[in-house]
Amino acid sequence: MTSSSLPPCVVIDVNWMGRPKSIASVLVQSDGINALIDPGPTSTIDTLRSELQRYDLSVKDLHAILLTHIHLDHAGATGSLVQENPKLEIFVHEFGAMHMADPSKLLASAGRLYGAEMDRLYGTVLPVPEENLRALEGGETVTIGKRDFEILYTPGHASHHLTFWDAQNGTAFIGDVGGISVEGDGFILPATPPPDIDIELWNQSLDAIAALRPARLLLTHFGYANDPDAHIALYRERLASWGGMVKSLLASGKTEGVAAEEFVDAVAGEIKGAEDDAGADHYIFNGGLYLSWLGLLRYTKKKAQKAAQQ
Ligand SMILES: [Zn+2]
Repeated sequence: MTSSSLPPCVVIDVNWMGRPKSIASVLVQSDGINALIDPGPTSTIDTLRSELQRYDLSVKDLHAILLTHIHLDHAGATGSLVQENPKLEIFVHEFGAMHMADPSKLLASAGRLYGAEMDRLYGTVLPVPEENLRALEGGETVTIGKRDFEILYTPGHASHHLTFWDAQNGTAFIGDVGGISVEGDGFILPATPPPDIDIELWNQSLDAIAALRPARLLLTHFGYANDPDAHIALYRERLASWGGMVKSLLASGKTEGVAAEEFVDAVAGEIKGAEDDAGADHYIFNGGLYLSWLGLLRYTKKKAQKAAQQ
């Protein structure tokens, strides 16, 4: 299954907000073809550029970009990269493709979450011309040089989330399906921002990834997890626990403001119990705990509404 004869992918740390190990992009090189998995936000495009230079590459030497999903921390730089290199092919789930072509709705929704901070965090987002977009639904294979990436549809974090499976190397590039965990350090934070969170679908996506029997997972936030079974089992358990926490906070009759604060405090407490001060600070900065609250809140309310209608 795994082969050491193929060169490994290169994990590029785009050093988001000056913080190493926050957002990873991946450089795939094979047979003269160069591709990125998730180029990251526009705010880190200069770091991406200088990291590419280390491999004697410029943006113009890239052939393709594979997007796990279109959230700005993963895909925000795509339009700028296409502007610089109009030959780039952009592979993205069909539900996300239209928002890459016209990012106005995506930006409005991100703007509601990030407000005045959006530009500083993510930078300008340019549209991707439709002729550059290659819409996927899952089940296809995208070939980069001599490397095949099988496409899995893995919703839960986002309704248009894809996982890229490199069977030759036993590596699953899972974007945000496995939450936030720095280089497999054993701790996981939720990555559950609005608007698409769906824990049932998420568990099915985790099943699909586990069924591949991967040797390793690559998480955008951040790096390789080398014990996929343990990682997936823990994330499944944590998702259920956070989901349960939100449900019981809602049922408690507390105001949403108080409930939000309790959720954020509880999850921050999990981090502080597991990490030293610097580690906890890193996870809390990257975790966007209030956003994870909002995403789980929306999911829980939608689910209750559905149950009430039945
Ligand atoms: Zn992300």
